[in-house]
Amino acid sequence: MQRLGIFGGTFNPPHWGHLHIAEAALHQVQLDQVLWIPAVVPPHRKGQDVLAIAHRLELVKRAIAPHQSFALCCVDPKTAGDRSYAIDLLHQLETQYTQYISNNHEIGSADNQWFWIIGQDAFATLPRWYRRRDLIPRCTWLVAPRRPLSPAATPAATPAATIQILQSQGIDIRWQQLDLSPLDISSSQIRQRVGDRLPIDTLVPDAVREYIEEKRLYQCPNL
Ligand code: ATP
Repeated sequence: MQRLGIFGGTFNPPHWGHLHIAEAALHQVQLDQVLWIPAVVPPHRKGQDVLAIAHRLELVKRAIAPHQSFALCCVDPKTAGDRSYAIDLLHQLETQYTQYISNNHEIGSADNQWFWIIGQDAFATLPRWYRRRDLIPRCTWLVAPRRPLSPAATPAATPAATIQILQSQGIDIRWQQLDLSPLDISSSQIRQRVGDRLPIDTLVPDAVREYIEEKRLYQCPNL
């Protein structure tokens, strides 16, 4: 049995904030591996300017390349249909996950223990997730603190408030707060800076920045 972290996201693009929380999860909960899973078409962002999955896979691959315990995992778009839901992803991972691991290494038996790595803002949306009653009890939820990026933005609900809502829905959850200082970085901030021709050196690993520059990503509104 292995202890496996699921780290889903849009990763549009991946940044140091993502790496920071994945590292914290790996070490604080003694995970064997963290699977990075870029969403094919995030349900809440359909129709918005999300970079093609091929680019986001390449960006994540570059971001995690130096880390042995991180693996890129991609769900086949044909099976994902036009939407990707967490519950479908977890089913796929539970039943046939090895085929999604980019390095093709066998990583364990069928009864692995699953941990879902998530930022506080995304965790606050959990009480609205599709089929959450099935999904939530199958994982331990590792919640990373996150501050709103602008003073004008409404702060996300605290984990305690989110858990209260889940309990009012009759859902119990195993969870743990990750112990880390939040990094105030977001993908939207990076896209905005690239569009404004501002440097992003301190926000993403060099290999990610180089790919963004090489392919001229995020330079125009239609990507
Ligand atoms: P965007 O700005 O486009 O909304 P994002 O920076 O939130 O993107 P995502 O790929 O949507 O990045 O995030 C994937 C997961 O990582 C989510 O659970 C999100 O809450 C978490 N996350 C992203 N950045 C941080 C951060 N700086 N601190 C804590 N959690 C983060």
